[in-house]
Amino acid sequence: MIIVMEPRASEEQIQKVAGKLETLGFKIVFNRGEVMTVLAAIGDKRLIDPASLASMEGVREVKLIQEPYKLAGRESKAEDSVIELGNGVKIGGNEPPVVISGPCSVESDIEGLLQVAYAAKEAGARVLRGGAFKPRTSPYDFQGMEEEGLKYLGQARDKTGLLIATEVMDTPEIPLVGEYADILQVGARNMQNYKLLKALGSTNKPIILKRGPAASIREFLLAAEYILYAGNPNVILCERGIKGLDSHYTRNILDIAAIPVIKKYSHLPVIADPSHATGRRYLIEPMSKAALAAGAHGLMIEVHHDPDNASSDGAQSLNIEQFKDLMGQL
Ligand code: PEP
Ligand code: MN
Repeated sequence: MIIVMEPRASEEQIQKVAGKLETLGFKIVFNRGEVMTVLAAIGDKRLIDPASLASMEGVREVKLIQEPYKLAGRESKAEDSVIELGNGVKIGGNEPPVVISGPCSVESDIEGLLQVAYAAKEAGARVLRGGAFKPRTSPYDFQGMEEEGLKYLGQARDKTGLLIATEVMDTPEIPLVGEYADILQVGARNMQNYKLLKALGSTNKPIILKRGPAASIREFLLAAEYILYAGNPNVILCERGIKGLDSHYTRNILDIAAIPVIKKYSHLPVIADPSHATGRRYLIEPMSKAALAAGAHGLMIEVHHDPDNASSDGAQSLNIEQFKDLMGQL
């Protein structure tokens, strides 16, 4: 940790800061410049809240040298994590990008779901996604088919051999959703539901953790840290767009730069969801390409057999033909 003192900080203020750190076991190296003094504190930074130092008299700035996420960061594991999803499908490192696709929600029309599943498989997708428990902004919107929807996903898996990814919204539902899903999704709205993250950490399923719409990259990685710390190393990070100021043209802002940033600081696989990021069908193709060009380990794309009549997110869903065309291009 580096503590930069104000140019006019008194010797007493400098010693007070140093003394506080020393009593916590930190070794202090003083760097006294002509104008200001900088202290390098070497020790276990978990023992002190940097904000409590930053607010001391005479302190200008406290800088952390190490990232606060230990297990998600490359400091603890330099090489990329490659996660086994099932059926021999792997994600991360130098594995070919994994495409996860399917409708936003599982709907009552099982034939439609199967149509999407077969087409997705044929086009090269490895995972079928569909929400049975849906986190919707309005309580009046379609909330998902719940267990019935999970059963439909189970049928689609049996028929196509695709892996299944679906969202788990609440801790008590983990065992039920886990019976049907190969991969559990944590939705953007739940990225900071720490009880849910801890509970998922004690399962052994791969977890797709979506970035909260207003979460910094550091907060995103700390959310992953909860799952890792609770014992589950199989976390896939999903950049799905953050809140912007121009929802007229795009639903969110796809933070493409987050992909190489995450790859620099973390060993975990990172995928992009251009559907929720943009909310516009015509933007899925260019943003999918951009995400892969930026190094994404996979994509999550909403596909519906009849997007204009979808129960949720039709405007950002590709139809089957469009998905096949996109996969050909990718
Ligand atoms: C979804 O994947 O359908 C979904 C609700 O996404 P998000 O949590 O990113 O909004
Ligand atoms: Mn959706």
